[in-house]
Amino acid sequence: MEKVSDYFGCMVFDDRVMKANLSAGVYESLKKTIDEGVSLDIRLANAVAAAMKDWAVAHGATHYTHWFQPLTGVTAEKHDSFITPSPDGGVIMEFSGKELIKGEPDASSFPSGGLRATFEARGYTAWDPTSYAFIKGKTLCIPTAFCSYGGEALDKKTPLLRSMEALNKQALRILRLFGNNTVKCVRTLVGPEQEYFLITKEMYDARPDLRFAGRTLFGAKSPKGQEMDDHYFGVIKPRVAAYMEELNKELWKLGILAKTEHNEVAPAQHELAPIYTTTNIATDHNQLTMEIMQKIAAKHGLVCLLHEKPFAGVNGSGKHNNWSISTDTGVNLLSPGETPYENAQFLLFLCAVIKAVDDYQDLLRISVATAGNDHRLGANEAPPAVVSVFLGDELNAVLTAIESGKPYSGAEKRQMKLGVDVLPKFNRDTTDRNRTSPFAFTGNKFEFRMLGSSNSIACANIMLNSAVAESLKIYADRLEAATDFESALQGMIHKTISDHKRIIFNGNGYDDTWIKEATQRGLLNYRTTPDCMPHLLDKKNVDMLTSHGVFSEAELKSRCDIMLENYCKSVQIEANTMVDMARTQIAPAVENYTYKLARTAAAKKALNNKIACGYENNLVERLSELTDTIAVRAGELFALLEKISNITSADDTDNVIIAQSYFIRDKILPKMAELRAACDEAETLTTKSAWPFPSYGDLLFSVR
Ligand code: ADP
Ligand code: MG
Repeated sequence: MEKVSDYFGCMVFDDRVMKANLSAGVYESLKKTIDEGVSLDIRLANAVAAAMKDWAVAHGATHYTHWFQPLTGVTAEKHDSFITPSPDGGVIMEFSGKELIKGEPDASSFPSGGLRATFEARGYTAWDPTSYAFIKGKTLCIPTAFCSYGGEALDKKTPLLRSMEALNKQALRILRLFGNNTVKCVRTLVGPEQEYFLITKEMYDARPDLRFAGRTLFGAKSPKGQEMDDHYFGVIKPRVAAYMEELNKELWKLGILAKTEHNEVAPAQHELAPIYTTTNIATDHNQLTMEIMQKIAAKHGLVCLLHEKPFAGVNGSGKHNNWSISTDTGVNLLSPGETPYENAQFLLFLCAVIKAVDDYQDLLRISVATAGNDHRLGANEAPPAVVSVFLGDELNAVLTAIESGKPYSGAEKRQMKLGVDVLPKFNRDTTDRNRTSPFAFTGNKFEFRMLGSSNSIACANIMLNSAVAESLKIYADRLEAATDFESALQGMIHKTISDHKRIIFNGNGYDDTWIKEATQRGLLNYRTTPDCMPHLLDKKNVDMLTSHGVFSEAELKSRCDIMLENYCKSVQIEANTMVDMARTQIAPAVENYTYKLARTAAAKKALNNKIACGYENNLVERLSELTDTIAVRAGELFALLEKISNITSADDTDNVIIAQSYFIRDKILPKMAELRAACDEAETLTTKSAWPFPSYGDLLFSVR
């Protein structure tokens, strides 16, 4: 049996490989680049490139690619082979430092939101040495950032790295104030839990909606869904187990720390969680994980659905972004410490997060906004579209005590004075955790649960890092200017709690009464992408993000447009698919079946006038009505789709894409729901053998 430790990371140009294949001098310089951001000169780049190429070729690679993450949400790669002709008519394998550091792919077909003039199609990719190169198939993949000719970011990695740097800078200021002069760097760490569905390839192929839109657009409820809760953590079926086994192996070869796997709540739903790592690496790894999940599924005759809501009526798929802040010396700044001083520091970082989430609720909501995720957030599913923070009873009691100046009524009753008292040990038991909260403290990290399963985790972490950097900056400015550090600290923590306690909610986030209460508290409730996305450009958000150098204003404008364009395009594809399926598959199938029923009734009548035909007649009547309704609604939906391109403004905006997104939200989506309702009712009345595609029951219970 092969041992995991023997092949783990075998396809990665990681530290072990670097050490073994680079001269000591080159290795040291490269480490400095990776750890401290020192730039690499071309001589060193040449040496690294040569070693990378030799290693890659020895592992069967013939090509290399700058691997990047454009705003399409998936990764992009353009392969170049290593071959260079040699004078004797043969070839040699070559790869230069220049080719390693910089690429110039034609960027004209990637979304740029107007950032790139059409005559300037060039884009640049720049090597990100903090994320290891790896081999996928026969290609050496070099993780890169992607920007335009003018230097504007056209990808998700560039702003993510900028946001990590912003947080690093401000967190270091705070640590220095606490007398820590040894820490060189502060990083955020992330472990994303990834949910997905597995169905068989035959079922998938038979459904145009799955093939074109990634989710079912029709489908009557299956007699059995997730009522029994028998799937959650249930025994993993052999076919799924075989899939998971091969998936783990492929991920491990790429150095991805796949750790936990289990069945999720809905039938056919599963989850995979890796061990957490530095945010930009976690982001690269999550993109790779999603890609490999789909690839391995195909090898097993399965399809992996990453859509947020593949099936109505059962849970959708999310992604939980477990996030913490850590020093290069290995101290988790969100972990309560052992001494009063460490605890004061912990409380300050905790407050920075609470303040950040309250001040930038809108940015967090925006960071997870897609047409797909709108079906989870704001529907009757966890978490809601309202952002709130869960702290747990104990920590909440500590904060309340600090705010009120009253004794903390935990196990031992006492006054809490920061910098003097040791915090009580918090209960870190994870069994009774609140699973409905969008943003939950789980002992030494926060779990941001609003992400959709197909989202790149980059977006959420960009906003989270930036917003927390902003809180820390405000704190550092005040503390640096204070004459009495301890009373300034106490005052600031006190003020944060009283100013931002409205964001703290420890109850059930599913509950309708919470949504009412949240509105009374003044919290935002942006149910849809068109509701939230335009707020990306609110002055307070632009000011904050530009002041930390995370985005330029032009980049923000372009991103807002691109995200809304994605929203509009996704829904339009869905609506077109619905019209097509309703007209060419559903209506004809119902019509055929109705004809059969009518013929049966006529035949019975011809035989003997007295034979009962109620069954046929009633069905013929209802199905005929439904066929008409389907035809009418499909026609109406089609007409609405035709109108979109003529929409150039709405009540509150002249921005074409915002206006179109409103039209889609207010007109197209409701009409899609109407069309679906008629089709789903027809499905329940039509014989199964006449229905043109697999039912929900077939889809959800297809894998054995
Ligand atoms: P649960 O489903 O109970 O939330 P999982 O084990 O499925 O727990 O996932 C927890 C995730 O949180 C894992 O990816 C884990 O590596 C990650 N994690 C644990 N500690 C930290 C931390 N300090 N910072 C960031 N992520 C963490
Ligand atoms: Mg989990």
